[in-house]
Amino acid sequence: MNNGNGLKKHNGKHIPHWKKHICRTEHAAIQVEDDRTGMDVETLKRAFFDNLYYIQAKDKGWATAHDYYMALAYTVRDRLLHRWLKTVEQTYFKKDVKVVCYLSAEYLIGRQLGKNLTNIGLHDVARQVVQESGYDLYDLMEQEDEPGLGNGGLGRLAACFLDSLSTLEIPAIGYGIRYEYGIFQQVIRDGTQVEVPDRWLRFGNPWEIPRPDYTMEVKFGGHTEAFTDEQGRYQVRWIPERTVLGTPYDTPMVGYNSNTVNTLRLWSAKASDEFNLQIFNSGDFANAVADKVFSENITKVLYPNDNNYQGRELRLQQQYFFVSCSLQDIIRNFLQHDDNFDNFPNKFALQINDTHPTIGVAELMRLLVDEHQLGWDKAWDITQKTFGFTNHTLLSEALERWSLSIFGRLLPRHLEIIFEINQRFLDEVRAKYPQDIEKVARLSLIEEGADKRVRMAHLACVGSHAINGVAALHTELLTHDLFRDFYELFPEKFSNKTNGVTPRRWILVANSKLALHITNKIGKGWIKNLEELKQLEAFVDDQEFRDQWRQIKQENKQDLAEYILQTNGIHVDPNSLFDIQVKRLHEYKRQLLNLLHVITLYNQIKQNPHADVVPRTVIFAGKAAPGYAMAKLIIQLINSVADVVNNDPDVGVRGSVPEASRLKVVFLANYNVALAQRIYPAADVSEQISTAGKEASGTSNMKFAMNGALTIGTLDGANIEIRDRVGHENFFLFGLTTEQVSQMKAQGYHPWDYYNSNPQLKQAIDQIASGYFSKGDRDLFKPLVESLKNRDDYLLFADYQSYIECQQQVSEAYRNQDKWLRMSILNAARTGYFSSDRTIREYARDIWHVQPVPVILEDDQQENAAIKHRSTTSINSQ
Ligand SMILES: *Cc1c(COP(=O)(O)O)cnc(C)c1O
Repeated sequence: MNNGNGLKKHNGKHIPHWKKHICRTEHAAIQVEDDRTGMDVETLKRAFFDNLYYIQAKDKGWATAHDYYMALAYTVRDRLLHRWLKTVEQTYFKKDVKVVCYLSAEYLIGRQLGKNLTNIGLHDVARQVVQESGYDLYDLMEQEDEPGLGNGGLGRLAACFLDSLSTLEIPAIGYGIRYEYGIFQQVIRDGTQVEVPDRWLRFGNPWEIPRPDYTMEVKFGGHTEAFTDEQGRYQVRWIPERTVLGTPYDTPMVGYNSNTVNTLRLWSAKASDEFNLQIFNSGDFANAVADKVFSENITKVLYPNDNNYQGRELRLQQQYFFVSCSLQDIIRNFLQHDDNFDNFPNKFALQINDTHPTIGVAELMRLLVDEHQLGWDKAWDITQKTFGFTNHTLLSEALERWSLSIFGRLLPRHLEIIFEINQRFLDEVRAKYPQDIEKVARLSLIEEGADKRVRMAHLACVGSHAINGVAALHTELLTHDLFRDFYELFPEKFSNKTNGVTPRRWILVANSKLALHITNKIGKGWIKNLEELKQLEAFVDDQEFRDQWRQIKQENKQDLAEYILQTNGIHVDPNSLFDIQVKRLHEYKRQLLNLLHVITLYNQIKQNPHADVVPRTVIFAGKAAPGYAMAKLIIQLINSVADVVNNDPDVGVRGSVPEASRLKVVFLANYNVALAQRIYPAADVSEQISTAGKEASGTSNMKFAMNGALTIGTLDGANIEIRDRVGHENFFLFGLTTEQVSQMKAQGYHPWDYYNSNPQLKQAIDQIASGYFSKGDRDLFKPLVESLKNRDDYLLFADYQSYIECQQQVSEAYRNQDKWLRMSILNAARTGYFSSDRTIREYARDIWHVQPVPVILEDDQQENAAIKHRSTTSINSQ
């Protein structure tokens, strides 16, 4: 496109401001500018081999695939840089622009190379560029270590939001923690989960840029002192026990076909300078080193619990550390233009992703009152106007309630502030409900009892102007159940924001064949406006369109079958029904219910070896929290059942080829974003079978449907909204409703009754108990069996028969491939609502009150680097 243009532009012509930053000398200017920004094949190729030599210090003879990956990553990063700087300059540093600050302890952003190439429209060019290396682009993309800085849905939501914010040109910063070790790598050994540390930074991270000049100081421990200042005002001084430094590492987040490159700013903990001084002065080297270890431990590792609270002090340190760094950073930015904090809420919208960053409410109060000398009322007004709070769970075991002893030891000043907030809040409550002592106790930020605790969700509700749930049902339950009293006090704060996922990552990058097929039919508008997928409905009877849809699904299934053979050594038939459940292992998600269906199918085949059954491949993947024994046992049971089923000759009688079988069971290790990208495009059936009322939203349900899978699911989370939109006739519904679940629990639930009255269920449970799947070992799975028979907290037995019958309907429907195909197309065509672009637009309109701010590049720059998508979406075909 700009072949040779670099020369011409510099011949006596005006050099745009941004280029001056890059050009170190006039002499070097021509070459440097061109190599680092040019978007054509020749320039990229030159940059690619230059980076190989000058950054990786390798030449072609020595370079590994990883060296080439790094060289390409730097080549791509260079092409994001000036749009990134422009975004920073025109948005964050501009007075009249409001910026969204998304605070999240987790970001599950996935590999960056493929996404960045797609979003800047360089995918096809890059494929040509790497040819000379002897590797193909796909090989290089596989080299990237995934940044696993999250557990599951919550962290992935934050990542989808960043993609949408940049694509929609909304000024935003994502703030979080740069964990040195992300979510552990899961290995399956003898059928059980083994956790391996995730050393994702081992070979360096080409996407991040450290910013030591923006380092912040964070205090911990110690005590507080009250005093009166020169103006006679009451003040409090916090004398900390120690201070820790936080250094930000910035990662560019480029939107699709947009000039906006927002920042993901992750904080890394370092020992403070005082540490160094101590070494020299005190001679107490051991203690000084211990302090260094304390500091640097803070961002060492991600806690691997999903939807589960563990009151560990280190976790509170992490939360306070990143929130304090972020708020100081935001205030530093603010004060560059403004000295009147009244304007603060007009400049920044702070969103707290679940309660993990909720300490921010007390920290902003502390910064405003103690460090910037605002009066309490003024500071409180600003704080409330600034924060929004997203709740992600109703599960009581997931609610953060910090014991006062830990809290007071680590954050003595914040505890005082929280007591003060609570006192003023409860005074209001008492004024409104003078007689109702119990209501006051229920609303209090402090849970009374032997071990008093700070209820972080309550602090978040009181300290925010907006509170939202993440799906219609979830918000309904929030307002009528968990936050009922708060809803009664201030109903206007509450709203629903149903989650979404980015179609760039989850269709364009993950399923490039389907993306191209769609674009060929309806153009590429759907990539930024997913509602346009509706136009596909017109082709639901178009034979050519249908054939290709089916062909693409088939090829995706073949790709996954190959992967399964490579990783698990199991032959699976791409013509069988791919029935898939991938998500964190959790009892409420009911992987066990799925497995009970597998065992039931197996028993049916054994009983009637010549029955005409629809062949199925049932695929599981998901990590269990290392301390969650029951979840780990479920993984072991899945693998044990797989062993028996996959090796039973009675199951495989359909033909002589190894993959020809009527039932196969596969557990894929180490579920992460990269694996998810392989899995969704290959699914026929999406398992979304949580106990009604337990899954706040779910997002894999959306990703599956977008890729043409049909859902078997309960009326839980976003399933309800998916079903309403794709059409009830295109969704396999089973199970109790939320109301029926509560009713059943209220009247006393007896799993035994179901066990005794359902022979198929009894048989399956008895087999597990008898050691049928554990080589005769009757003890191994006893905890599972006992838990089901005696408690069955998640009502697997109550939903079993409904689920089995629904699965029979699934199989019958699959026999009619024409009808199935129609349902598959209609599912994908009607998922437009579930784009995270829609979700972000709603947050922007209702909670953040922010507008898009298009980033303007210089004229000649527009021509060269503004992302011109040359081809349609041919983008990703491999
Ligand atoms: C989408 C996604 C999730 C969330 O899945 P749910 O089934 O909604 O819980 C978790 N992990 C990864 C890697 C994902 O991509």
